[in-house]
Amino acid sequence: MNAPSKDIHERVHDEIQARIDTLRSGAPATAPNGGAWTQDKVAKELAQLERDQDFLVAHWRTRPGGSLAADHLPMRALACGEPQTCAHVEDLAKKYCP
Ligand SMILES: [Zn+2]
Repeated sequence: MNAPSKDIHERVHDEIQARIDTLRSGAPATAPNGGAWTQDKVAKELAQLERDQDFLVAHWRTRPGGSLAADHLPMRALACGEPQTCAHVEDLAKKYCP
């Protein structure tokens, strides 16, 4: 095995998934700001997490053929065409894995 550390995409994905799992398995008694978690708040938070996860996956995927044809070129994110790791993923990483 020569993969010493997890890919940043993988780390952010795992973190978002962990939060989704936590919310789905029962909301915490209190929100981070001290307020109560209402059903509505949980639903909104879950929707936000799922949006961020979809966004991450869209920028995780690479252009078709890009990584197969020429592995000396940087892989480019499918959603924005920027070389990986693109700025969009870095923003998510700052949010979820500071
Ligand atoms: Zn991007």
